Amino acid sequence: MSIFPRKLLRPCWSAVTVIDRNQLALYLHIPFCRQKCSYCAFYSKIPEPDTVRHFLNRLSGELKFRAGDWQKPVTSIYFGGGTPSLLSPAALEKILQVIEENYRLAPDPEITLEVNPGDLQSEAVLEGWQEIGLNRISLGVQSLQQDELNLLGRSHSVSQARRSLTILAKTEFIYNVDLISALPGQQAEDHLQNLAEILQYRPRHISCYNLQLEPETPLADRMKKGLLPEISEDEDARGYQQTRQQLEKKSYQHYEISNFALPGFKCRHNLAYWEFRPYAGFGPAACSFNLRERRKNRASLRDYLADSPRQPGVPHEKSRLDQQELKAEYLLMGLRLLQGIDRRDFHSFFHQSLADCYSREIAGLKEEGFLAESGNKIFLTDQGIMLGNQVFQAFL
Ligand code: SF4
Repeated sequence: MSIFPRKLLRPCWSAVTVIDRNQLALYLHIPFCRQKCSYCAFYSKIPEPDTVRHFLNRLSGELKFRAGDWQKPVTSIYFGGGTPSLLSPAALEKILQVIEENYRLAPDPEITLEVNPGDLQSEAVLEGWQEIGLNRISLGVQSLQQDELNLLGRSHSVSQARRSLTILAKTEFIYNVDLISALPGQQAEDHLQNLAEILQYRPRHISCYNLQLEPETPLADRMKKGLLPEISEDEDARGYQQTRQQLEKKSYQHYEISNFALPGFKCRHNLAYWEFRPYAGFGPAACSFNLRERRKNRASLRDYLADSPRQPGVPHEKSRLDQQELKAEYLLMGLRLLQGIDRRDFHSFFHQSLADCYSREIAGLKEEGFLAESGNKIFLTDQGIMLGNQVFQAFL
């Protein structure tokens, strides 16, 4: 029997002004994929025989070795990647067991698995994940049009995506659906058609990301060579506005630039990043932040797997952030949330008022119509949401 009780994730309603940072979000980077998507810059490899077993041993070792650095109660565990749904339930359970034995768990932690739709084609698979205590799934649908999935180089098909959505919709399981918009040549209507179909399944959470053209990816390369139509900024803006309207009409709360949730179902794990709370990442390329220092594991599976008796930890780099960098990080993350940041929380963390640190920048951004204030909150306006990067630049 699993050490994690099989039960549904309860809704979370918290709305606080001063954030509790005595908690920890755990991220596990599973660096394997069946094939590389054309737009992807995440660190992942196509697994070779035996590599997965070796990786799992190393990951368990890293979790144990670094446990002493993290005494805070774990409120969320997130299997990301890569494609963690490639792992068997037994392998996932083994990792959860190592966490349970070496970390302090908060009551009812959120435990998410990123899932490729191709890996969820029967009720029995979902049942297996529930058995080991997973209570949230993030399904990488991306599109429900086959030509778009082909362009993105996804390994799953539209019919597989529909099948996995049907399986999930029949249960009470909490799940998120990822969609990508602003594809080359895509009209706003194409994306809205994807969204309308997704809404019929009524997931508790939807993430709508604009395609990011990452350098060195095959898709960016094709764009550079002029082999694909340009991405229209106007179409993109129109699609984004209508996405917001459609989702709000269906009672989804737009709570982060790209994220929408039914009441009580925000992603607790990702909130840790936006609320400037500590997180610990394990596996190659995973990042950690303890509110002072950033750590990044080297993005190399080969290095990760190499045994080094003189250095039992995994290869990584650390950088300590000065006060200025910490404040900028706080603002860049916090302003992604539509509720914005709370002056009282800033003061409680930095022992300085927001006005003392940034009055000029805030006044300028308010004048340009990018920021607004209400009570102790300061947040992006609709215009600021559309031009988030321009706003963030002002604080760097
Ligand atoms: S499945 Fe995800 S991590 Fe893997 S290649 Fe595609 S986008 Fe990248």
